[in-house]
Amino acid sequence: MKIIKSDKVKILIGKDKGRVGEVVRVFPKKDQIVVKGMNLFKKHVKPSQNQKGGIVEKERPLLVSKVALVCPNCQKTIRVGYEIDKSGHKYRVCKKCHTLLTGKTVK
Ligand SMILES: [Zn+2]
Repeated sequence: MKIIKSDKVKILIGKDKGRVGEVVRVFPKKDQIVVKGMNLFKKHVKPSQNQKGGIVEKERPLLVSKVALVCPNCQKTIRVGYEIDKSGHKYRVCKKCHTLLTGKTVK
């Protein structure tokens, strides 16, 4: 997956189209991500010892294909490129401005 936790992404389709949020969870095997405050659904919670009952809003996972990564430097929705350094580490870069997207390497 090209998107990792704490990336900023823009929602491309659905009710949150055009909004930008932070990735809080990724599910690489399902190609899904959870974006903070996006794709909310209302969940009815029964009262228990620990909490009151009622309606809580929770984020539902989104397919990666429904979002676009936003570059922290050029602020545009971008395609992710990869660069490999001399020691063989692979880095994600913005294809538009060539900024390193995170300090982390990806497999
Ligand atoms: Zn950029």
